[in-house]
Amino acid sequence: MTPGYLIEELKRRGVRVTPQRAIILEAIEEMPGHITAEDVFTAVQRVNRYINLATVYRTLDLLRGLDLIIETDMGASAVQFALRSHAAHHHAVCRQCGRSFEFPDELLAPVIDELATHYRFTADARHVVIFGWCDSCGETERG
Ligand SMILES: [Zn+2]
Ligand SMILES: [Zn+2]
Repeated sequence: MTPGYLIEELKRRGVRVTPQRAIILEAIEEMPGHITAEDVFTAVQRVNRYINLATVYRTLDLLRGLDLIIETDMGASAVQFALRSHAAHHHAVCRQCGRSFEFPDELLAPVIDELATHYRFTADARHVVIFGWCDSCGETERG
């Protein structure tokens, strides 16, 4: 990904990129993996302290509407976002202790294929979170 690609992408789609919005977009690009609106807000405050949280939320909404970021419920208190470019994996999260690990797309591919061929259903499974119990917490869960 070349720096500034989010800005370029928005301009290409005819969206007006204000200076404040440009700062937010650059901050999002620089953050790897999962981010929250608060993370973005903290980062942009270092550049321009007049940017408020509402503007950050509006920009994230815009990016989600354009399908450039995906919203992921990881079971944490805040909704997390990830850039589309981040999406070639999935997550398993323990309900008990919150520990999580990533697993590759190949693991889910047979299920997605079967849903498509057998059920004629297109799964939106580009970034899936599966909740459950890890090895140590599963012990207590199973009794
Ligand atoms: Zn992820
Ligand atoms: Zn656990």
